[in-house]
Amino acid sequence: MTNEDLWKATLGEIELTISKPQFITWFKETSILSNENGNIVISVPNGFTKEWLENKFNKEIIKTLRNFQSDIQQITCIISGSKKNIDGATNSPQKNNTINLKNNNVSKNFQTETSFNNLNPKYTFDSFIVGKNNELAKAACLAVLKNPGTQYNPLFIYGDVGLGKTHLLQSIGNEIIKNNTNKKVIYISTEDFTSEFVNSLQTGIIDQFKRKYQQIDLLLIDDIQFISGKNKTQDIFFHIFNFLYQLNKQIVLSSDRPPNNIKILEDRLKSRFEGGMITDINSPELETRIAILESKLKQRDFYLDTNILEYIAVNIKNNVRELEGALNKIIATCELENKEPTLLSVKNILSGIISSKQKVGVNHKDIIIGVANFFEIKKDSLFKKTRKKKIAIPRQIAMFLIREELNMSYPEIGDCFGGRDHTTALHAYKKIKNEIKDNIKLKNNISHLKDIIFNC
Ligand code: ADP
Ligand code: MG
Repeated sequence: MTNEDLWKATLGEIELTISKPQFITWFKETSILSNENGNIVISVPNGFTKEWLENKFNKEIIKTLRNFQSDIQQITCIISGSKKNIDGATNSPQKNNTINLKNNNVSKNFQTETSFNNLNPKYTFDSFIVGKNNELAKAACLAVLKNPGTQYNPLFIYGDVGLGKTHLLQSIGNEIIKNNTNKKVIYISTEDFTSEFVNSLQTGIIDQFKRKYQQIDLLLIDDIQFISGKNKTQDIFFHIFNFLYQLNKQIVLSSDRPPNNIKILEDRLKSRFEGGMITDINSPELETRIAILESKLKQRDFYLDTNILEYIAVNIKNNVRELEGALNKIIATCELENKEPTLLSVKNILSGIISSKQKVGVNHKDIIIGVANFFEIKKDSLFKKTRKKKIAIPRQIAMFLIREELNMSYPEIGDCFGGRDHTTALHAYKKIKNEIKDNIKLKNNISHLKDIIFNC
């Protein structure tokens, strides 16, 4: 096996176990430089990747390499300094899209009434709890802070609502101005950006609007998916983006989906968004949910027993905002009634939030039977190794539901389906999770299934 084949085969396996943004972030532009006496030297594009491959992915890489070459002992990473994108495109904006810098020299003498740094100081990296779900996103933010406006520009963070995107965007801003109060930072939601733009058009102060954005050092744009279909806003944003990019000013964007899933987004913007670093943020695992609750309790100077914390964390899974909402409700009720919280009282307080109808004691078998009935197939066919769509899709949906609703581990889920490998379960989960973002029919089917399985 050549080094190239060995690395290809290894990456092929690793790709199945991590998310696509993670895979691209950590493994693009990597290759095996040498392979002697079980010592592998890997070429990586930068220090950020080196640190992660050597520290975080070390074991995983060695383990996977050993599947193909059993004498692998260790890996070392060497920075090669290449700056190409994974698809070979360069990062710099095309010349014909640049805007006239001369015009904008005016901005130096221009006194705006704009106030910058409109950040909420409560959002900091210190108060951001890190778990497997968001460690890449946080690391990407820290890498951006180390060298703003250079290597990872723009940074694009995507994930479902309530998972900490705004928190991270604002933390970057807060950190920048903590270190240098002269830095001009704008945090703005895409909706506010749009209305500000429309207002400035209507009131004839579009130049002022442009200048405001062209003089900043850091632009944090939240929920960029809302720019979808707004052609004029996309146009002005594109110009501001290029202007800042050329001056090496950092841009950070958040969205509820990756750039290529934002419908009606101009291609030129899409490729800008994809030109820097893309990172995802997922739902926190149980331990992280507990850690988040503990941290929020500490901030509020309130105490809850471990069994109560666990009850909340086990039942509220998908969303940190909902976890916070649950805590707020408990604290408010207890303070109002001047009572110490007990597990029973907490269950009562949260009965409206925690799917009250959720059938206690649903296990993986109930889900498998529910799915089989729903799709009118035999339960046993889900355990067979067939790849026929009629069976494979319900199987993936069942795996997804077991993960999502029962929080079982991927190896356990593999076992539920006739001893399949954990990567199959992981792949199924990710596939469905991704598809329901765009596929309305699938989304409806799943919500229907949940009703049938949990609410009857
Ligand atoms: P999003 O922008 O992704 O919808 P937010 O950043 O508004 O989510 O997060 C929702 C709430 O959850 C915020 O109050 C935020 O502080 C909190 N939060 C999210 N993730 C974390 C985390 N990892 N640690 C601590 N708090 C978090
Ligand atoms: Mg947000």
